[in-house]
Amino acid sequence: MGNVLIVAEIQKGKIREASYELASFASKLGKDVKSLVLGSGVAAEADAFAAKGGGEVLLVDDEAVANYNVDAWTRAIRAAVDATSPDVVLISNTPSGWDVAPRVAAALDAAFVSDCFGVESDGGNTVFLRRVFNGKLDARIAPSGDVAVATMQPGATPAFEGSTSGKVDKLDVSFDGLKAKFVEVREAEAKGVDLTKAEVIVSGGRGVGDPEKFQEVIQPLADALGGAMGASRPVVDAGWLPHEYQVGSSGQVVTPKLYIACGISGAIQHLVGMKASNFIIAINKDGDAPIFEVADLGVTADLFEVVPALTEAVKTAKG
Ligand SMILES: Cc1cc2nc3c(=O)[nH]c(=O)nc-3n(C[C@H](O)[C@H](O)[C@H](O)COP(=O)(O)OP(=O)(O)OC[C@H]3O[C@@H](n4cnc5c(N)ncnc54)[C@H](O)[C@@H]3O)c2cc1C
Repeated sequence: MGNVLIVAEIQKGKIREASYELASFASKLGKDVKSLVLGSGVAAEADAFAAKGGGEVLLVDDEAVANYNVDAWTRAIRAAVDATSPDVVLISNTPSGWDVAPRVAAALDAAFVSDCFGVESDGGNTVFLRRVFNGKLDARIAPSGDVAVATMQPGATPAFEGSTSGKVDKLDVSFDGLKAKFVEVREAEAKGVDLTKAEVIVSGGRGVGDPEKFQEVIQPLADALGGAMGASRPVVDAGWLPHEYQVGSSGQVVTPKLYIACGISGAIQHLVGMKASNFIIAINKDGDAPIFEVADLGVTADLFEVVPALTEAVKTAKG
């Protein structure tokens, strides 16, 4: 049986969606779920997390952990590990998660598995799932040792739904003599699009031809479906759209309910970013394009005939 420890992250005063996804992963392991909430003045959020998948929550309520500080967070996580004796520690694969997790693993002399999209219990052993060789293969990794630390991809599983009868206890940690000091947060300029949150993505590739066609053909279908526009890398490299639109191994990994690929060949670096989408429609005039191998519905046709017609059909259907 054993325990699983979730490290929950606070962002702008709220527990991140990715932390509720960790609760979802943890609930599949048949272990007692414990959580660590780090922040300052976040007791209400800790209560909410305990009631929604977090189980028994340890709260470190201290200014030292209010913003990401690798030294302070490592200390707090180690203290939570000492208090809960988990055999699995789950951390989100966020920028702070991928920084702190290997450090925690090294400090605990624990196995470390990064960027997993799944975890399961196989005959009592915890097995992590992660993509390897640029998405060509899925690896099943069963770590050895008393404790394993893993980072889990945000968006790879739905957030925990339902309620749990958790509780919150304070955990006292000394932050004397920290070697790292938080200075300030500088927010990046607001981006036009967050593809990781979109339920529908209509992506265009080199086959769209030029930047104007993205606005005239691809964006209207995305708008009609209430979704977002995405792109393959050559589109971004050519400066037709900013980088936040790029889907793939060097762009965003997305998991929308519906992904429509228009004029995209389906190179492995693109597929790795979208093949976990719930339903994939591919429109390509080359019937041998590899994109059709991952498509649930393939249309071998000129996108300039199909996409505007589809846009009109969606508008008509919506009235
Ligand atoms: C290290 C590395 C990282 C990479 N990261 C990424 C990444 O994150 N994302 C990414 O996308 N790529 C990435 N790439 C690039 C990748 O290998 C491909 O080159 C790229 O995905 C191809 O983009 P595309 O499908 O738009 O273009 P192409 O491969 O040129 O395909 C265009 C397609 O459009 C079709 N087409 C043309 N005209 C029409 C029409 N009128 N109607 C219908 N279909 C039409 C053609 O049949 C063709 O299949 C990366 C490569 C490397 C080496």
